[in-house]
Amino acid sequence: MASVAENLEAVLGRMGEACRRAGREPGKVELIAVSKTFPAEAVQEAYEAGQRLFGESRQQEAAPKIDALPADIRWHFIGGVQRNKVRKILPAFDAVHAIDSLRLAACVSQVAGELGRKARVFLEVNLAGEASKGGFDRDALRRGFDELRELPNVEWLGLMTIPPADREGEEARPFFATLRDLRDVLRQDSGLELPHLSMGMSGDYEAAILEGATLVRVGSAIFGKRAYRVDGELG
Ligand SMILES: *Cc1c(COP(=O)(O)O)cnc(C)c1O
Repeated sequence: MASVAENLEAVLGRMGEACRRAGREPGKVELIAVSKTFPAEAVQEAYEAGQRLFGESRQQEAAPKIDALPADIRWHFIGGVQRNKVRKILPAFDAVHAIDSLRLAACVSQVAGELGRKARVFLEVNLAGEASKGGFDRDALRRGFDELRELPNVEWLGLMTIPPADREGEEARPFFATLRDLRDVLRQDSGLELPHLSMGMSGDYEAAILEGATLVRVGSAIFGKRAYRVDGELG
């Protein structure tokens, strides 16, 4: 089996190739190495190979890893957010990817204010209307965006999506194009920059890069197959 360092190098190589195909600068797409379910040792291996940005989806699982690993690692919270965990998530994570309701966004803004910081967040969009997943409905987000952007302690990084699990590779591409179009519309409507698109996982990160992803969230292609599912999360 290939090592974490070898897998990482292969993923970065394919990302670079996708950037070339898309006519995009390679430095404009960043890799989040998704380490959920994997031990700190696996993260350390990727760290030693040069990786500095990691994604976790459960606060309780992430906390001991964050404590044990070098302080120059940046962590992104990519999982569903429980409101009672926001106070622990915000100080530990550089960005939160799955803000999926006005109620949650308001909670995040309030807690960020109490902590004297701005929360850096993505809005999750549920493009296929899947009941099993969180995320804003596209039209509801357009209608509700004025209210969201009034929240005082939030920095809006952009949009995030997870296409249906049975649409991998090129088949996921229309969802990525739709997310980019929606970002462009919201940008036009609001005047906010919304610079980032968080999209693309192990099975489809190249397609996401071709459609404008600025952050890809890749787990199993780097760390191997996950031995167990995280409750309420993607396998
Ligand atoms: C687990 C997870 C990933 C990584 O999935 P892989 O298919 O292992 O690359 C990406 N994004 C989210 C939100 C996840 O929960």
